[in-house]
Amino acid sequence: MPLTPETALEIDLQALAHNYRVIRSRLKEKTRLLGVVKAFAYGSEALAISKKLEDLGADYLAVAFSREGVLLREGGVRLPILVLHPQPGGLDEVIEHCLEPSLYSRNILSLFLKALKKHGQEEYPVHLKFNTGLNRLGFHKEDLPWIGGRLSASRAVEVRSLFSHLAASDDPKEADFTLGQIQAFEAIVRESDSHLGGKPFKHILNTSGVFNYPEAQLDMVRTGIGLYGYSNNPQTDRELRPVARLRTRISQIHNIEPGQWVGYNKGFLADSPLKTATLPIGHADGIGRQYGKGRGMVYLNGKAVPIIGNVCMDMTMVDVSGLECREGDEVIFFGEGHSAEVMALGAGTISYELLAGISRRVPRIILE
Ligand SMILES: *Cc1c(COP(=O)(O)O)cnc(C)c1O
Repeated sequence: MPLTPETALEIDLQALAHNYRVIRSRLKEKTRLLGVVKAFAYGSEALAISKKLEDLGADYLAVAFSREGVLLREGGVRLPILVLHPQPGGLDEVIEHCLEPSLYSRNILSLFLKALKKHGQEEYPVHLKFNTGLNRLGFHKEDLPWIGGRLSASRAVEVRSLFSHLAASDDPKEADFTLGQIQAFEAIVRESDSHLGGKPFKHILNTSGVFNYPEAQLDMVRTGIGLYGYSNNPQTDRELRPVARLRTRISQIHNIEPGQWVGYNKGFLADSPLKTATLPIGHADGIGRQYGKGRGMVYLNGKAVPIIGNVCMDMTMVDVSGLECREGDEVIFFGEGHSAEVMALGAGTISYELLAGISRRVPRIILE
């Protein structure tokens, strides 16, 4: 990698530390904080982020799939790692790397008990996931007697926590629905006492839950997007700092005559004299075609300039008419002061998709 690549995703660990402290300050002293680092830490750099979270005092980490947890273990991360969505083919590596699976169905629970037997493991830490209305993943309350029966038949596992996931904690219009989910989870927790041994801890909140339903923080919160600087709310976003900054440099500038087209399939027609800049980032880098045709803005010296025509695989054209600029000048896609959430909303999606979609072709630069 060149010392200063023209295109890079900068990862600011000081911004991460700031966000960690903001979120921590909203929790009671005893509430644990789990940092969600799935999908390369929301498209940033999972190992650097995880190690920083470890230094900052996070209690837990979570990934979606076992492979992601293995990479963290191989990189030296020692915090407990919850695997949110283990697959049957990944259960051996869960055990081999001391990862803690979420057990969410009868099938995955039975397969995991089998895997534990094969590895000769006992009292292995697991987490039980319950469905309270998202209808995506999780046991139902009615499964509790079955779970209790399966688990009490051996000493194979120790249930470390019970948890559920909110469907719309970011949406004030859905407060009744969210409170209903929280109550449904509390009912599961009460019922679980008579079926499960031990003293599992409980958790249901994601980032927006921490900001909007602090009374439901229970024993732990699972925060992802907030650590990366976004909270699904412009008000609370102001307290946070974006961790990732996507920048590049202008490759070429063109002066376009009225009546000329720009880009593939004549995606843009110049109706007046136009100055365009070609940027070396395209849909293969994670800036999808949904950002084309004026739906995405990028920033040149702080000024928003629209993406014109169709986004190409390796390039994007922007309209820089009337602006002082030269080939080699820096352009920001998102970062401090240029919200990825705003950019994402312009194209009908959310910050999560934009951030997590920045492809591995873009070099990551860690700012300590
Ligand atoms: C991704 C995920 C989270 C984190 O959600 P944020 O909105 O990013 O804070 C928490 N819990 C589960 C189960 C998840 O899948």
